Amino acid sequence: MYPTPDSSPRPWIEIPADSDFTLQNFPFGIFETGTLGARAATAIGDFVVDLAAMQELRYFDDLHLPRGIFEQPYLNDFIALGPATWRAVRKRLIALFSTDGPGALRNYPDSQDEVLHPHSEVRMRMPVYVRDYTDFYSSEEHATNVGTMFRGKENALMPNWKHLPVAYHGRASSIVVSGTPVRRPWGQLKPGDGDPVHAPSRLLDFELEMGAIIGQGNALGEPIPTAQAEDHIFGLLLFNDWSARDIQKWEYVPLGPFLGKNFASSVSPWIVTLDALAPFRVPGPKQDPPVLPYLRAEGDRNFDIQLEVAIEVPGYPEQVVCRSNHRYLYWSLAQQIAHHASGGCNLQVGDLLASGTISGPTPDSYGSMLELSWRGSKPLSMPDGSERRFLQDGDVVIMRAFAAKEGLRVGFGEVRTEILPALEG
Ligand code: CA
Repeated sequence: MYPTPDSSPRPWIEIPADSDFTLQNFPFGIFETGTLGARAATAIGDFVVDLAAMQELRYFDDLHLPRGIFEQPYLNDFIALGPATWRAVRKRLIALFSTDGPGALRNYPDSQDEVLHPHSEVRMRMPVYVRDYTDFYSSEEHATNVGTMFRGKENALMPNWKHLPVAYHGRASSIVVSGTPVRRPWGQLKPGDGDPVHAPSRLLDFELEMGAIIGQGNALGEPIPTAQAEDHIFGLLLFNDWSARDIQKWEYVPLGPFLGKNFASSVSPWIVTLDALAPFRVPGPKQDPPVLPYLRAEGDRNFDIQLEVAIEVPGYPEQVVCRSNHRYLYWSLAQQIAHHASGGCNLQVGDLLASGTISGPTPDSYGSMLELSWRGSKPLSMPDGSERRFLQDGDVVIMRAFAAKEGLRVGFGEVRTEILPALEG
């Protein structure tokens, strides 16, 4: 049983009611300031918490962490210490920020000054060095929508779709953190029956996804059973898989996505652990036909995480264009990991497995402009009076995610990206 809000520990630091960063959360990230180099952090309320400073102040002494483990540009070395260490650090943080925990930090304002930085005064960086990135295609609603548009309703789902979690290997080098602008890509486009041209994409799109960061690898050749698959996850973040639909359409035959996808993907700066998300576990959709034995998984493997996408036109209030939920995913993280490793592929610390676009059952829950505007046939009205079929230069795309129930809230913050015009030809 999870603690009810009444018996839960309470923080001594003020946490705004709508904060993503509560005593239940304690995500991990990397930040820097004008004077401090890159270092590991967690977040509580309106503050980023400097984990390197906390280690210096000896709050983690009995956890026997390597010296300087938090004074690094990426979390990878910390993650590689394993689940027992991540759990011990998070548990310590919960205790240190609870009214009934050890009082050292609460009673030392000098230490607080050293450890706590307002979010607005730091710059968040890429939290992990992503070695390999795989993009799944695990939402039945998304796969059905896209399949219906391109092949008709009868053949919307390919014959393999309900038997295995379909995926492709993506590009890791172009994954950037929230706040990094993304430039409209050039590529080959083939207008109608005309000859192909080399031009900036006209059909730039987002894809609302969540990514899992791998925290423990497997040896080359050794599969991971579904029952142990979640032990290999360090945590989850928001993932915007930018897509140029016109480039994608012409290039993808027969090997799949390439320049239509590899120009950029954007992530949120905070990685939220599965421990923090434990109270929000829910069953996934019923899988029919039954999956093969190596993909069978017991228990509640999905998460009730509310997702939204907003578009901001400069000078106008943002407009939410999509509300969806992680719980809609047909294939769970455990199944994705088990399938990924089932042929012997070795997952490694820092790998990123993205879920695929998470669309829900209703038209306002579709996780891409391709689906929201139904291939451009149903444009969305924007607050400045303009219409959107796909994204325009200057648009800011904002994705957010949080889980909440019975007074508990755990959020991911946001991934916010401005679209820059294509380079001059
Ligand atoms: Ca995708």
